[in-house]
Amino acid sequence: MNLSVAVFGRIVRRTVCVAILAASFSFAQAPPAPSVTYAVDLSSPEQHLVNVQIILPAGTAERELQLPVWNALYQVRDFAQYVNWVRAKDRSGSPLPVHEFNKSRWQIQGAEGGAIVEYQIYADSPGPFGAQLNSHHAFFNLAEILIYPVDARTGPFKVRFGHVPEGWRIATPLTQASDAEFSAANYDRLVDSPVEIGNFVESDFDEAGAHFRVIVDADPADYDLPKIVAALHKIVLAATTWMNDRPFDTYTFIYHFPRGPAGGGMEHAYATAIDLNADSIKQSLNALTGVTSHEFFHLWNVKRIRPQTLEPVDYTKENYTRALWFSEGVTSTAEGIIELRAGLLDEKHYLNQLGEGITELERRPAHLTQSAEESSLDAWLEGNPYYRRPERSISYYNKGELLGVMLDLKVREASHGQASLREVLQWMNANYAKKGRFFNDSEGVREAAEAVSHADLASFFAKYVAGTEEIPWDDFFRQVGLRVDTISNNIPDAGFIASRNFERPMSVAAVTPGGDAERAGLQVGDTIIELQGKPVGQESRQTLIELNSGDTLIVKVRSRRAGERELKWKVGTRQEISYELKDLAQVTPTQRERRIAWLKGEAQSAPDASSPGAPAGRAPGPAASGVSQ
Ligand SMILES: [Zn+2]
Repeated sequence: MNLSVAVFGRIVRRTVCVAILAASFSFAQAPPAPSVTYAVDLSSPEQHLVNVQIILPAGTAERELQLPVWNALYQVRDFAQYVNWVRAKDRSGSPLPVHEFNKSRWQIQGAEGGAIVEYQIYADSPGPFGAQLNSHHAFFNLAEILIYPVDARTGPFKVRFGHVPEGWRIATPLTQASDAEFSAANYDRLVDSPVEIGNFVESDFDEAGAHFRVIVDADPADYDLPKIVAALHKIVLAATTWMNDRPFDTYTFIYHFPRGPAGGGMEHAYATAIDLNADSIKQSLNALTGVTSHEFFHLWNVKRIRPQTLEPVDYTKENYTRALWFSEGVTSTAEGIIELRAGLLDEKHYLNQLGEGITELERRPAHLTQSAEESSLDAWLEGNPYYRRPERSISYYNKGELLGVMLDLKVREASHGQASLREVLQWMNANYAKKGRFFNDSEGVREAAEAVSHADLASFFAKYVAGTEEIPWDDFFRQVGLRVDTISNNIPDAGFIASRNFERPMSVAAVTPGGDAERAGLQVGDTIIELQGKPVGQESRQTLIELNSGDTLIVKVRSRRAGERELKWKVGTRQEISYELKDLAQVTPTQRERRIAWLKGEAQSAPDASSPGAPAGRAPGPAASGVSQ
């Protein structure tokens, strides 16, 4: 099936409308709605100014126009702050009154014969979560720049890019109508389609019966395209085989490899946009294959296997959902499995990663006070440094990924090896996504896990998903011959905790009282601009991890009160507990067998044929044999 869940939502609602129409005018066929057309003018890249015209077809006299307040991140960012002005005119060019209704909504009158709404918006937010026009390129999440007519959101849209600078080309998963004109069935679909315009490099390939485009906007000296494409082949084959599904014919990867800070990846139903620091991908492709596996798996989990609480998308305020531990965290669990199956990750490194994940969760005191569901609901607070403090919050990515692993092990145990996380996800794909249904947050995940395991999983969900009980790691890992070892180490201590909100600057969340960092003048709330002489980016975390006791730390910070300053202090030492996965003293052949199946992401034996929604085919993974060496 080749429709996103969002599109299903539209169809369901339109069916209701048509039914009502049919009852009153059963003789009349409703004509197709005329398109709303955007003309997006790129003639001012140096000023980062985008001039937009919305060409509205004839209809009601009064129209409401809305610019989304959030998109791409679960954070209200009020894109209307960048709108310089809004004007409107009728088809003959006479001005129409524009009334600002609230900060992100406008009303126009006199549009019965159609109207043209014009506005100017500033776009200079870099990265996969932003919208940016500069002299180098344009990259748009269209919801951040396109105001939509509220009454036409579910109808067809066209977008035309004008004054595209000489030599620039356009890449987007949108349907191409002509050179610079694209169409979409509705606004949701339109804005789920990232657009890159510039002088990029393109490669494409076929795999698993689909066509893939790879768009790279970076310095050619910084990356090896054939190597990237080779890894993408493995990832898409491993993921589609694991899900036994390919709900698309074409898919687009958009990459940027900036020399400076880079923000990560953003998923879309038919594409992903990924930014990674150029240095980090030169050393190894691990970061690229990890993020890519994660974002690619999102085309199922969150885009098609979608929680009811995210639908319909409310562009005017937060959509509160308890399911991000699943939609994001379990996508990270799947990322690991895809990489294992693709032969891009081995057992040793995978178990190390799990140990690091457990360490991250156990070190945050908030794991005893904030549940995975609460962390999902509170995603909207993540833009605030205090919220990110270890005593205030956990990460739904971190705990969600671990819950995905625990759920996998739980389902395996309860079903005597006949089902696994794979069957849970395939069941959700078959029974929600393919049927155009959304799932009821954690309850919907539980429904799927119980259906494939034939077990009551209420207490698992109550204790670890809705609750904050300590996860008894060893009880889960024993079946695959592993235990979690606690290690107490004297480790380097920089004397502060910093955190970063996606591509925004890194800020100081906590400073050890009486420590050298505090004595040097570091304060909570300081923005860190440079670490060891390098601008702060995604790789800064690694710089901090690699510090040794006694090293001199040189940090450039900025704050509103104290301005910009360079601080220096010596890295100290403190005791810290970390967690590692280790073999049990005696690993039995049965445990060894279970572990092999677990690391392949496969059940040990075919599920009971009578189980509802049992997947039809169970083709083995392409590189699965390389997994457990
Ligand atoms: Zn994600």
